Amino acid sequence: MSKQVANKPYKLVNRSAHPESTVVRVGKHFVGDGSPTVIAGPCSVESREQILDIAEQLKQCGAHMLRGGAYKPRTSPYAFQGLGIEGLEYLAQAREATGLPIVSEVMDTGSLPAACEYIDAIQIGARNMQNYPLLRAVGKTTKPVLLKRGLSATIEEWLMAAEYILNEGNSNVILCERGIRTFETATRNTLDLNAVPVVKDLTHLPIIVDPSHGVGIARYVPAMSMAALAAGADGLILEVHQTPETALSDGQQSLTPLQFHQLMKRVEHYAAFQDSFDTEASLYG
Ligand code: PEP
Ligand code: MN
Repeated sequence: MSKQVANKPYKLVNRSAHPESTVVRVGKHFVGDGSPTVIAGPCSVESREQILDIAEQLKQCGAHMLRGGAYKPRTSPYAFQGLGIEGLEYLAQAREATGLPIVSEVMDTGSLPAACEYIDAIQIGARNMQNYPLLRAVGKTTKPVLLKRGLSATIEEWLMAAEYILNEGNSNVILCERGIRTFETATRNTLDLNAVPVVKDLTHLPIIVDPSHGVGIARYVPAMSMAALAAGADGLILEVHQTPETALSDGQQSLTPLQFHQLMKRVEHYAAFQDSFDTEASLYG
């Protein structure tokens, strides 16, 4: 641990308060236990058939959790807004069929109690990273929280957002780097992999990376997934769709099931190689 952490404004997420890395349990899966977690699924839940079919394929490929948005934060009010509670119901059916824990975004405090009846981990989206009433509300639950970094948030602002959740008593927080706004326009966002070792140094919370939103272009996703793991990330969250060209949201950044399968092979090889030495000590010691 570096000396710089002592004067930081966050106390509970600070590694000096908790030197051991936190492992967050979601269903029967552990995030941050040294082997990479892979969360996969479509950007949006589009239909019962779609989510049940993709969940089965993802399970076969070795994914650990299923993602899918039922409440979608869309730039345009005319774009598909998600199926709401019906989408959560379909996700729960997919969990029933596959055993995969489900991760889904909650956008407001009003839908939180109902959403908690269905989902295993609550995603706080980039646009809501500084929605303090929502952070406090998820902090009052016992559900694991996947806290995405805001579009233009500094690492310190992001960790302060996590601090809100821990401060309400919920320490099951998984951070998620999903790319930030920069002057670059060749990709949707700039995936800030600097954040991985920095967050590992400053906090005890696990961090996963979302290369799908980070680059926004499916063919760059495998390279940045491997880069994220090499940087020390505890896992990945990836958008996968049966037919990306007809997806109701984020098709351009979604992998096909075959591309996901090929990426999983690489992730598994990497994990086996990583097992042969003590990564945390060698990267951050
Ligand atoms: C998503 O996961 O589909 C999503 C909307 O992510 P973000 O909040 O990172 O943009
Ligand atoms: Mn998306």
